[in-house]
Amino acid sequence: AATILIQVRIAHVGPHRLLVLAEDRTEARRLEAIRRDFVVNVSHELKTPVGALSLLAETVEAAADDPEAVRRFAGRMQRESARLSALVHEIIELSRLQVAGALSALAPVDIDRVLAESVDRARTTAAAKQITIDAGGETGTTVYGDHALLVTAVRNLLDNAVSYSGRGTHVGVGVRRRDDMVEIAVVDQGIGIAPDEQQRVFERFYRVDPARSRDTGGTGLGLSIVKHVAADHGGDVVIWSQPGRGSTFTLRIPAADLPPGSPAPTTQEV
Ligand code: ADP
Repeated sequence: AATILIQVRIAHVGPHRLLVLAEDRTEARRLEAIRRDFVVNVSHELKTPVGALSLLAETVEAAADDPEAVRRFAGRMQRESARLSALVHEIIELSRLQVAGALSALAPVDIDRVLAESVDRARTTAAAKQITIDAGGETGTTVYGDHALLVTAVRNLLDNAVSYSGRGTHVGVGVRRRDDMVEIAVVDQGIGIAPDEQQRVFERFYRVDPARSRDTGGTGLGLSIVKHVAADHGGDVVIWSQPGRGSTFTLRIPAADLPPGSPAPTTQEV
């Protein structure tokens, strides 16, 4: 059952007069709870790499006369710092996206460029696992939005496709126009996600397998960032997945049709 929270304030405004103000605080209370949870989760997530770093620093100090051990621990310290810095970066990105109106100035974005840039960056990590990334589909599509944020979203989907797939598999990314939407689909042949987990993966810090996600350097924030980017562009992200067969994440953003030669609008209300 839903609870409604009404805040009532009563003031004397005259000898025989009362002023009664009633305000619905339900939504405000819900948002406060989300913010509080986020802060608790963030502190918890930050504690892990910070704790590991301080422990490793102590260990290095104790092993000062064993160069081989020092090298090994220094390597682990570098990995932990990289995780910490990725985490801080994603927390900042997500907080920025949660601020309403983060996308106040929208410009036409060329989806071919978004794809080229994201695939380019993801290929390096994919190569280490002998995973090939093929891009294809319709060219010349445009949406209104923020180029850098769209690259971040597609990049997160590609990174996940690579992280949760075996060596030597294929990842595909395709674009197509469907009615008024531009659809960008990232397809993998990876481990897949069970039906009852498929919506939960969009929650902040939710991981199906925390140990595996930690191994791959995951923060648990990637898909919530994708979801926010989609929503801020007036679109959404849909998932298809089957355990053992693979997953497809489709980012759907309203298409922007620019008649050839017309000046592109630079701002648009959302
Ligand atoms: P993470 O940083 O852990 O990858 P995400 O928010 O990007 O965080 O994803 C949340 C969880 O969803 C992951 O930990 C993983 O369990 C699952 N997941 C995401 N993408 C895929 C995929 N392509 N295949 C299988 N599982 C996935």
